[in-house]
Amino acid sequence: MKILVPVKRVVDYNVKVRVKADGTGVDVANVKMSMNPFDEIAVEEAVRLREAGVASEVIAVSCGVQACQETIRTALAIGADRGILVNTDVELQPLAVAKLLKSLCDKEGPGLVLLGKQAIDDDAGQTGQMLAAMMNWAQATYASKVAVSGEKANVTREIDGGLETIEIKLPAVVTTDLRLNEPRYATLPNIMKAKKKPLETVTPADLGVDVAPRLQTLKVAEPPKRSAGVMVADVAQLVDKLKNEAKVI
Ligand code: AMP
Repeated sequence: MKILVPVKRVVDYNVKVRVKADGTGVDVANVKMSMNPFDEIAVEEAVRLREAGVASEVIAVSCGVQACQETIRTALAIGADRGILVNTDVELQPLAVAKLLKSLCDKEGPGLVLLGKQAIDDDAGQTGQMLAAMMNWAQATYASKVAVSGEKANVTREIDGGLETIEIKLPAVVTTDLRLNEPRYATLPNIMKAKKKPLETVTPADLGVDVAPRLQTLKVAEPPKRSAGVMVADVAQLVDKLKNEAKVI
């Protein structure tokens, strides 16, 4: 069984993002970019499934600019077997990515597509669900445990009330949550080995997909600054302020 792992290049989670002065988006010039953290968890899980003999091949896919190659190389260093870059300079929205992934699924026939539950840049949390709908496959989102046996998988999901375990038929789409695993560090020898692993480049046109944006961003703004709090002397004063100043009780 092949596992397809889509990995997105995003602004590193340690970077404090700044909104561009003209409000058209977030400033990414000279900003450190990394693999979306949930996708690192997906790569780790796929590699573990291959190491356990459940999967035969792990394919890392990234859609976007040429520099997404680096994100794929990171996935290869963690242990993915080969990479596919879907190269385009068009800003991709989740629907476009899902269509590109559908085309790759039709071509590669994976038994499992393991995505992140959301990309930390746009926080859309849509791509996996859209892909499952387009493929008419089962989906298990927010996974904290994945156990594959034969043609089925038991997936434990993080839901509002706690945990839920569902059985899904393969092929399927699974999206990863934070507690699924702790990704390994890519060691230097593995980073070197990753440079020699196959990485194919295709374009959206090769896959027959129109990636033109369907949504238009009107304005991006910083959240309003929080005003400073005050210390109250006692509970009576707190209740008085909540009643007479904030008027919330
Ligand atoms: P989103 O729906 O944008 O929050 O993204 C959810 C997941 O879809 C990510 O964690 C990735 O696994 C995958 N994904 C989204 N955009 C891309 C992209 N441009 N290239 C590869 N994978 C992507």
